Amino acid sequence: MKKIGIVTLYGMNNHGNKLQNYAVHELLQEYGYQTESIVCEKEIIKPRLKIIFKKIMAVTGDKKYQRWRSFYKFTRKHTPTRYFYSKNGLFQEKIAKDYTYFVTGSDQVWNPETIKRGRANYFLRFAKREQRICLSPSMGVQHVAREDEFDLKKGLNGFRYLSIREEAGKEIIEQLIGQSAQVLLDPTMVLDKAKWMKIAGNASKTVGKKYIFKLFLDPISEERNKEIIELAKKEELEIIDLSDKASVYYTLGPEQFLSLIEGAELVCTDSFHAVAFSINFNIPFYAFKRISKNDVSNHMASRIETILKKFNLENRTEQYFCAKTYGECDFSSANKILLTERERFRSFLQKCLNQQELNECNIMNVDERICTGCSACVVACPISCIQMKENEEGFLYPRIDREQCTQCGLCTKVCPCINPPSKEKEIVDAYAVYSKDQDVLLNSSSGGVFHGLAQRCIRLGGVVYGAMFNEQFEVVHAGVNKIEDISKLQRSKYVQSNVNLVFAEVKELLEKEVPVLFTGTTCQVAGLKNFLNKEYNHLYTMDFVCHGVPSPRVFRHYKEQKRRNQSIQDISFRDKTKGWEEFSFTIVLDDGEKYVGKKREDPYFNAFIKNILLRNSCYHCGFKGKSRCSDITVADFWGIKNLLPEMYCKDGVSLVLCQNERGEQMFKDIASSYEVKKLVVSKKHEESNSAIYASMVKPEGRDMFFKKFYLEPDCKTIENSLSSIKKKNIVIRALRKAKRIGKGIIKNR
Ligand SMILES: Cc1cc2nc3c(=O)[nH]c(=O)nc-3n(C[C@H](O)[C@H](O)[C@H](O)COP(=O)(O)OP(=O)(O)OC[C@H]3O[C@@H](n4cnc5c(N)ncnc54)[C@H](O)[C@@H]3O)c2cc1C
Ligand code: SF4
Ligand code: SF4
Ligand code: SF4
Repeated sequence: MKKIGIVTLYGMNNHGNKLQNYAVHELLQEYGYQTESIVCEKEIIKPRLKIIFKKIMAVTGDKKYQRWRSFYKFTRKHTPTRYFYSKNGLFQEKIAKDYTYFVTGSDQVWNPETIKRGRANYFLRFAKREQRICLSPSMGVQHVAREDEFDLKKGLNGFRYLSIREEAGKEIIEQLIGQSAQVLLDPTMVLDKAKWMKIAGNASKTVGKKYIFKLFLDPISEERNKEIIELAKKEELEIIDLSDKASVYYTLGPEQFLSLIEGAELVCTDSFHAVAFSINFNIPFYAFKRISKNDVSNHMASRIETILKKFNLENRTEQYFCAKTYGECDFSSANKILLTERERFRSFLQKCLNQQELNECNIMNVDERICTGCSACVVACPISCIQMKENEEGFLYPRIDREQCTQCGLCTKVCPCINPPSKEKEIVDAYAVYSKDQDVLLNSSSGGVFHGLAQRCIRLGGVVYGAMFNEQFEVVHAGVNKIEDISKLQRSKYVQSNVNLVFAEVKELLEKEVPVLFTGTTCQVAGLKNFLNKEYNHLYTMDFVCHGVPSPRVFRHYKEQKRRNQSIQDISFRDKTKGWEEFSFTIVLDDGEKYVGKKREDPYFNAFIKNILLRNSCYHCGFKGKSRCSDITVADFWGIKNLLPEMYCKDGVSLVLCQNERGEQMFKDIASSYEVKKLVVSKKHEESNSAIYASMVKPEGRDMFFKKFYLEPDCKTIENSLSSIKKKNIVIRALRKAKRIGKGIIKNR
C-alpha cells in the first residue's frame, strides 16, 4: 500500500494541534494512502522514561498529567506515529524509500522559531523534490527577520507546489522566492461535521444542562468575564471552562473537546481552533482578542481576524457581544464559502498527489544538489518559461513558470544531469605543453594552450566563447572574434560564469557555418552539446580539469570590499609576477593602487581551495574522468617539476588531453608555437591533480558559512569560517594521529 509520512509539530497537549494532525491523516487516507506521523528524536531511552513517569503521575491524580494522558491516548488511537532516531534530530535521506510522499503541515511548521529547532525536517529536505507536499503550513509571523530568510528561502525552493495558511505568509513567500503560494483552509475545516462526530466523545451529554463552552489561551479581562457570567446566569446556562486548571474539564482530550463544542449553546474563546470548529459545526460563538502582547498572541489574533473575514463573520468578535442576540449567528454565507474552500483544498492536494504519477516532463525533477546551472534548459524551452534565478547562496538555478509550461519535455532532454554525455572514447592523447611566447604565457593561467586554440579559430573566421569580466567585473560567458580580444577570455576566473543565452547564439552561428570554439567547465560543454543535439563540423570545444566553481554572490561582495569605493581596472586570480606556482590574486584600482593576496593568504582564494565556496553540484560532479565530451581538455600540470623535470617552466605548464581526432587536429595546428612533450598519463600524473577524477569533498562548515555570509557578506565571515575549519582539521589530524599511535602500541604488544 502506498504510504505517506506526515511531519508536524509534535508533543504538544493542544487540542488544535492534535486535531489538525488527525484531519491530515483522514484526508490523505481518503485518497487511498496509509499514513503515519513521523517524528525524529535525538535520544532513545530518555523519551521512553519520560512517558513512564507521566503515566505514573497521571495515576496519582495530577491534573496536568491526566490531561497529558488524554492526548497520549488520542495520539495512539487516531494518529499512528513512527519514531526515528538520529544524533542531530534530522531525518535521514534513507527513510525516503519507505514512503510515496511526505506531508509537512499544517500548524506552525514554518514559523522561523520552529525551523531553527527542526530545520530541514519541516521542509522535507531529506526527501526527493517530487515526494514533498506542504499542506496548509503556517508561518505564524507577519514579517521575517533577515536572519531567518536564508533557511526559509532554501526550504521553500524545494517544493513544486506551495500552499500556506495565511495571506501574510503568501506575501512573504512571494517576496522571498518570487513564487506564488495558494492560501488554504486549516485542514480541520476540510472535514465536515459528520466526519468529526465519528470520533467525538460524549462529554456534552454528561453535562446535563445547557452550557457556554469557554476556552481562553490568554487570561480574559475581568470585565469580559463578568459579561459571560451574567449572560450564563440570565439564560440559566452552565459554564464549561476548558482553560480552568481546577475544573474537571481541564483534563479532557481532543474527542471531548469536539463533543463539548458541538453541544454548546454558545462558544466564547480566543482560540483559533475553537472558532474554526464553531464555524464548521454552526455553533454561535464570540471570538475574543488575545490580550497578552507576545508574538504568539498577536499572530493568533491575526489568524482569527483572517478566518472571520474569510467567512463573513466579522460581527462575531467580542465588541458585538450581546446577551440578547448571542444565539443569532447566521452561517448561511459561511457554509457556502466553506464548500468552495474545501474544493480548493482538495484540488491542491490532488495536484500534489499526482506529482509522481504525472511524471512531469520539465526540469523540476532535477535535484538542486546536482543542477550545474549550465542554462541549457533555459535556451531549449520553446516558450521561454524558464528563467535562471539566484538562490540564497548566490548561484543561478532554473525556475519554471509552471502555469505556462506545456510539458513538452525539451528542457529535460537537454539537461546534462539527466542525460549525461557518453564517456566511451577511443583516443585520449596527452601532452605537457607551454607557450614559446612569453607574453601569452604570462597572461595565461598555466601553459597558454587556450590562447593558441582561440587564435586558430579566429583565423578560420570564427568566434571564440569563454568566460570574461563584464563592466561590473561579473563573470559572464561571451564571444570574441578579434585576436586582440582573446586576452579578455584568458586566465581562470574562480567564480561561476553566467552562460545566459550564449548557447542559442552559438547555434545560430553554427547554422550559418561560422566556426565556433566554445570553452568552459565540462558541465557547460556538456550542456551546449545536449542543447545542439547535432554534430557540427566547425564546432570546437575545450574544457578544463575543474576544481569547482565559487558563488558569484560571494565574489560580488568580496570585490566590493576590496575596491573601497574606487573603480576596478583589472582583476587577476592568477597573477604570475612571482611565478606560476606562487601566483597571487590581484585587484588593480583606478588610482593605480593594487591589492595583492598571496594564494594561501587571500581569504577568498583560500576558501576556494578549501572547497568552502563551491556550488553544491561540484561536490558530486558527474563530469569527471579522463575522457570527456569536449575535443580538448586542459589543466595545470601540477607536479611537473618532479614528474617531467625537462618540461618544467616556472611561468606555467599545461597538461593537454586530446579527446578525439578533432582535438588532435586542433592541437597539431597550434603545436609549433609551443614546447610540447607527449606522455602516457600514469597514476602519478593523476595523483598530482586529483580534480581530474574526483569531486572535491564538501567541508562540514560549508553550509553554515553560506548561512552566515547571507547575513554578513564580508571578508571577516570568510576568514572566520576558514579558521573554524582549520581548527576542526587540527583536531581531526590529532585524533587520527592518536589512533595510529594507539594501533601501533597494540600491535607491538
Ligand atoms: C573555476 C576553475 C577551476 C579550475 N580548476 C582546476 C583544477 O582543479 N586543476 C587544474 O589543473 N586546472 C583547473 N582549472 C584550469 C586552469 O586553471 C587553466 O584554466 C587551464 O590550465 C588552462 O589554462 P591556459 O593557460 O591554457 O589558458 P587560460 O588563458 O588560463 O584559460 C582561460 C580559459 O578558461 C576559461 N575560463 C576562465 N574562467 C572560467 C570560468 N569561471 N568558467 C568557465 N570557463 C572559464 C576561459 O573561457 C578560457 O577558455 C580551473 C579553471 C577554472 C576557471
Ligand atoms: S517542459 Fe517544455 S515548456 Fe515546460 S519548461 Fe520544459 S521546455 Fe519549457
Ligand atoms: S539544464 Fe543545466 S541549468 Fe537546467 S536543470 Fe539541467 S543542469 Fe540545471
Ligand atoms: S566541478 Fe563539475 S559541476 Fe562543478 S563546475 Fe566543474 S564541471 Fe561543473
